[in-house]
Amino acid sequence: MAKKKAVDAPVEKNQYIELEITGLNHEGNGVGRYEGFTIFVPRVLPGEVVDVKVIKVLKNYGVGRLVDIKEESPHRVEPECPIFKRCGGCSLQHLAYEEQLRQKRQLVIDNLERIGGLVVRDSAEDDRDGVVVHPTIGMADPRGYRNKAQVPVGEEEGGLVTGFYAPRSHELVPMESCAIQHDRNNQVVQVVREAADRLGIPAYDEEKHRGVLRHIVAKTGFATGEVMVVLVTNGDVLPHADELVDAIRKQVDSVKSIVQNINAKRTNVIFGERSKVLWGEKYIYDRIGDIQFAISARSFYQVNPVQTEKLYNKALAYADLSGTETVIDAYCGIGTISLFMARKAKQVYGVEVVPEAISDAKRNARLNGIENVKFAVGEAEKVIPWWYAQGVRADVVVVDPPRKGCDRSLLDTIVEMKPERMVYVSCNPATLARDLRVLEDGGFRTVEVQPVDMFPHTGHVECCVLLVRKI
Ligand code: SAH
Repeated sequence: MAKKKAVDAPVEKNQYIELEITGLNHEGNGVGRYEGFTIFVPRVLPGEVVDVKVIKVLKNYGVGRLVDIKEESPHRVEPECPIFKRCGGCSLQHLAYEEQLRQKRQLVIDNLERIGGLVVRDSAEDDRDGVVVHPTIGMADPRGYRNKAQVPVGEEEGGLVTGFYAPRSHELVPMESCAIQHDRNNQVVQVVREAADRLGIPAYDEEKHRGVLRHIVAKTGFATGEVMVVLVTNGDVLPHADELVDAIRKQVDSVKSIVQNINAKRTNVIFGERSKVLWGEKYIYDRIGDIQFAISARSFYQVNPVQTEKLYNKALAYADLSGTETVIDAYCGIGTISLFMARKAKQVYGVEVVPEAISDAKRNARLNGIENVKFAVGEAEKVIPWWYAQGVRADVVVVDPPRKGCDRSLLDTIVEMKPERMVYVSCNPATLARDLRVLEDGGFRTVEVQPVDMFPHTGHVECCVLLVRKI
């Protein structure tokens, strides 16, 4: 449904108002109410009183632009990045890290109470009935955590520039170094840009659909140090490819793979269908815990491996496996959780809708000598009922759905299957809360929720949730 313009909102576009900020939303924007009407304002913090210019008024909410801070939050800090205000990547760099973690936990609690109708206990010691929401697990050093950079290339005054698109636009903000990227990825982007500039390789021009270099993609295995460089080009021709490869090999330590990916379409999608290895290997390797993963140019892989390990260890602890259990891992991606669980379970079934992800999952199982897992391509809500009809019964069901949460018919099948335990891994507290309500009504009890900060300085929060079947 199209977003409707407000008919009787208490504010108008271009109006100046004073607003008290009372919370943060899932994008990291401040939330305030003006005569009961919700207004979102970027780069302001809970507890602040601000002057705002209303720039958009829709049916259910408005958007404001910060004009002046009248009362400042004690948790406000100077953002590390000089381009914080223009870059669309981080939204919370102006909030002290400890407070980011506290706010993320609060966002989870608010969703569980408001949408899920759940009672949240203060702590594990609080002996009322209800769900325990633990303090968010943060990072010791919340910088340099991303293992993958995907940077668009443009031209300015004849020279190549690399950077990020400003929020909701295709305006390229030039950037030398990104604070949340691994140093090696920042270095790769700089080396490729400078060498391509020297060699006269033109950037791709979106509007004219001409030119060559579209994106530079750098991937670093945190545990192994191995580096992959992907050059996304607008066609097969990459002039001076050999010289570019030489420059990368000379200047980037531990580079193991240099790949050209061809994307000749007019599209915002970064990768094209075809890739060819220009030098080195087709894969680099990384480890999360004691599981090894092969990473190709296009394959999905968790971008913060340090926090992924903490999240999946929590999922494993909640599954409480003794070696006799059958586990279903729904929305399994490249099988990360399935492989973590397989070491401790009798049999694991993983299901995922993207065929390439399942090929990777099977390859990763072989790579680690894991034989007690079966992977299937398809929609979880179709494949799991089919498994159920074939007689598969799971002791533990794990779900790790995309932002929109689980399909209702999948939840109904799980309720019918009656596993002892469920582990729900979620990247969206709102759909998590909605689905927990369905599962509670279907006979499960939500025991505890562990928020994990997978993306420091952004509004995102990931949760790992334990549910048990009520007798
Ligand atoms: N646990 C995974 C990541 C899960 S992300 C890992 O560690 O790799 C969510 C996944 O759900 C994505 O891979 C997406 O392709 C998949 N997906 C989306 N809709 C789906 C559906 N209806 N059925 C099965 N998988 C789906």
